[in-house]
Amino acid sequence: MTKLHDIKDNWAAQGRTANNDPVAANLLSLLTQFEDSQWWSAQELQQKQLVQFALLAAHAYRHSPFFRSRFDQAGLDPSRAWTADSFTSIPLLTRAELMQQADHIYCRKVPQQHGAVHKVQTSGSTGQVVTVAKTEFNQLLWLALAMREHLWHERDFAATLAVIKALTPTLDDPAEAARLGWGHPATLLLQTGPSYAQPLAMDVAQQAAWLARIDPKYLLTYPSNLGALLDRYEHGDAVPPSLCQVRTVGETLHPGLRERCRKLGRIEIVDMYSSQEVGLIALQCPVSGLYHIQSESLIVEILDDDGKPCRPGETGRVVITDLHNFATPLIRYEIRDYAEVGPVCPCGRGLPTLARIMGRRRNMVVFPDGKRHWPLIGAHSYREVADIRQYQAIQHSLEDIEIRLVIDEPLSKMQEARLTELARQALGHPFPLRFSYSKDELPKTGGGKFEEFISLVR
Ligand SMILES: [Zn+2]
Repeated sequence: MTKLHDIKDNWAAQGRTANNDPVAANLLSLLTQFEDSQWWSAQELQQKQLVQFALLAAHAYRHSPFFRSRFDQAGLDPSRAWTADSFTSIPLLTRAELMQQADHIYCRKVPQQHGAVHKVQTSGSTGQVVTVAKTEFNQLLWLALAMREHLWHERDFAATLAVIKALTPTLDDPAEAARLGWGHPATLLLQTGPSYAQPLAMDVAQQAAWLARIDPKYLLTYPSNLGALLDRYEHGDAVPPSLCQVRTVGETLHPGLRERCRKLGRIEIVDMYSSQEVGLIALQCPVSGLYHIQSESLIVEILDDDGKPCRPGETGRVVITDLHNFATPLIRYEIRDYAEVGPVCPCGRGLPTLARIMGRRRNMVVFPDGKRHWPLIGAHSYREVADIRQYQAIQHSLEDIEIRLVIDEPLSKMQEARLTELARQALGHPFPLRFSYSKDELPKTGGGKFEEFISLVR
């Protein structure tokens, strides 16, 4: 039962209605709209986005002191109809502005029908916290898009799910896992199979043993953790026999991991691109594997260094407008990620695509000639060389790259030479490398994300 109409029929057959189950009713109604809107043409989507944006801009002009002065200074009159040109003349909103001027950005009033306001915090790599106010409607949209993702990938809701994430408490009791199920949004609409969980802090060898015992059909985790699990599997740990899909979230997915999963057998990766500030940004297409931008919720622009839109195949900065956040207007917000624009999708959906999410500028390696490149992280199996628990590369200067290893014993000279070769392949240049060793887990960013490559070269 993976089709929306089956879910709706089943929901209604249980005597559930908009009166006795309003959240599910609203969710079903949004999902029904999304069934249509995903097939609209790109032009039609853009036109509808600008109509919605006009409502947001007028609201922000009235109730957000920051945006009133921003529109005034740019000579923009939000009461006039917006065009693609006038929209792109709005200055970008930086993370620094969002952090330092949040009190001026927040709206003094929020339309009643958007529901109660709550705040979410996101912390960057240097620990600076951004607080974004959101509404119940934003939450409902998140639920609907997360459910759309399940439906696109025709998940078997009766199957077992395993989750390994940063702050998840252990959930290992079968009765409890069955009682809680997959959680929202799925359990708002239907009965699901059990969902088990472990915190990311669990040792990878223990994770592999636990997964073999739980034997989930689906695993939800971060790409860096999946990479560590793949290393175990490639060296003989038992792959859970039922595992057929790994859903990755939270960090940049490097294509090398997809390749390694395919080599293990029938395991596919389905990646999601999201952020705390704006929710689900792009979801992987079930047909092509491209990432479809969630245009009903956001305007996503990919801009080059001159601020011009990138064409398919080009990589640029991701700039996002949240069309439905009437508590904290995020208008042309520079989210600091980079992405490659994708082609029109062969599946026929009009939702524009991204071919790849690249990560942050600081995740690019800088070559001696000053050019920046994305290193091929995740493509190589470093545990071939030794029992490396965790690794991270830090580029301190053009001539100094430190490879940090979490390992019980330092490498031998021969192992260092072998690892140097693999790291240079991944970096794409014969950099001089130095190794440092530690027995403790490497630090994560404030948001619990782990970055395998960081360049400190400006
Ligand atoms: Zn598609």
